[in-house]
Amino acid sequence: MTETADVVIIGSGIVGSSVAYHLAEQGCTNVLVLEREAHQGKGSTGKSMGGVRVQFATPVNIQMSHYSIDFFSHFDEVVGHPADYRAHGYLFCATSERHLEYLKINREKQIALGVKNVELISRADIVEMLPQLRVDDIIGGTYCATDGFVDPHSVMMGFMLKARERGVRLWLDTEVTGIEVEGRPAPEPAFQPHSHPVSRPVRLARAVVPSFDEPSPAPILSCARITGVRTSRGPVSTRVVVNAAGPWAANIARLAGAELPVEPLRRQLVPTEPFDGLPKRFPMVIDMSTGFHFRREGKGILLAWNDPEETAGFKTDFDNSFIEKILTRAADRVPCLVDAEVNPRRAWAGLYEMTPDHHAIIGSAPNVEGLYFVNGFSGHGVMHSPASGRVAADLILRGHSDLIDASQLSVERFAQGRLLEETAIL
Ligand SMILES: Cc1cc2nc3c(=O)[nH]c(=O)nc-3n(C[C@H](O)[C@H](O)[C@H](O)COP(=O)(O)OP(=O)(O)OC[C@H]3O[C@@H](n4cnc5c(N)ncnc54)[C@H](O)[C@@H]3O)c2cc1C
Repeated sequence: MTETADVVIIGSGIVGSSVAYHLAEQGCTNVLVLEREAHQGKGSTGKSMGGVRVQFATPVNIQMSHYSIDFFSHFDEVVGHPADYRAHGYLFCATSERHLEYLKINREKQIALGVKNVELISRADIVEMLPQLRVDDIIGGTYCATDGFVDPHSVMMGFMLKARERGVRLWLDTEVTGIEVEGRPAPEPAFQPHSHPVSRPVRLARAVVPSFDEPSPAPILSCARITGVRTSRGPVSTRVVVNAAGPWAANIARLAGAELPVEPLRRQLVPTEPFDGLPKRFPMVIDMSTGFHFRREGKGILLAWNDPEETAGFKTDFDNSFIEKILTRAADRVPCLVDAEVNPRRAWAGLYEMTPDHHAIIGSAPNVEGLYFVNGFSGHGVMHSPASGRVAADLILRGHSDLIDASQLSVERFAQGRLLEETAIL
């Protein structure tokens, strides 16, 4: 007999796991998560630096971070699993008036959205925080004490374990090879109740009609409708598919005949061997003159820099020539790092999932009813995982979310020229 699920989620990384968790928390437990790997976390989630920050430039990113960081700070109590949230702060160091002005403007936006603890700080403050920095060209910066880090693997596992406790199923070693759609359905009522084995009634909002809370349904667009997925373990019948396939999201969209502007872009991280030339605890430091940033990771230091010459593609091999490029920038800002040792075999590369405006795409596909995107986090998928899972579950079950104005993140923004501009990209 064909397997059935109310919702199929493709991808069990931190985003798919969060969507599963939030659906289950809202009473939708007939959910099947499909993961082609034998273990969770083999995609971008397992490669992440784990940084979480509210210091963004656009309201929607600030709101997503604000909600998510608060969620991380209660993760253990709420989800019953550690997130390993460390509020060590993020310190942005400006070396030009232009950068300082930019930080000040962002801070105003952050304060307006209820983030009260982003401080404007002086060069002397920065020296106090990390005396090992070269500061002759630093003219000031911003610091937020509740920014910091989480353990992405632990967050992902926490979401999934809790979702599974509630009845969500996870199939590992199961690749999605096709998405079944049927064409141009006849108009139907604005919603259909689903029978779920839960005490609370759960209804799935339809993809191309407004929420059933709204008085009169809008006309149904002419489009295909999801009926199921094909997998390496056989077919699964479903009316709702969530694309949580990280850097592979565009391939999944194509299986349903949909376009999704998400491109993989290699990012490389270099950990040093144990290094005691820097304090045991200090914030993530961002050198705005080069984009070089670093934080403590265990006994060593984790070095990061996004090479502007990197080009899109599924490249996950670590390029040894990157080490010299990053160490040059590291030693320039933190002179004592010339003494740090690096073992190239411990360095790694992973994929960002980039969109043209560096913002996530969350919402339904315009021409495939029942297909939802939770993709394109452009380097912020870990920190935004609580908010994105919550918003996706809200949209699937109710057709709208109170957390953010989700229409800003719809895929239609690209065709409609409503791009968002986020410049605080790391
Ligand atoms: C080097 C690096 C550093 C980063 N640092 C940070 C950071 O500091 N803070 C932050 O917030 N973010 C950071 N990110 C970004 C973050 O890691 C990602 O945005 C996030 O992990 C995306 O999660 P995901 O669940 O969408 O994707 P993934 O973790 O990639 O999960 C997608 C899953 O889909 C599965 N899949 C794909 N195709 C199929 C198929 N056909 N069938 C079944 N399964 C399929 C894959 O196997 C994979 O497990 C970083 C990323 C990298 C690479």
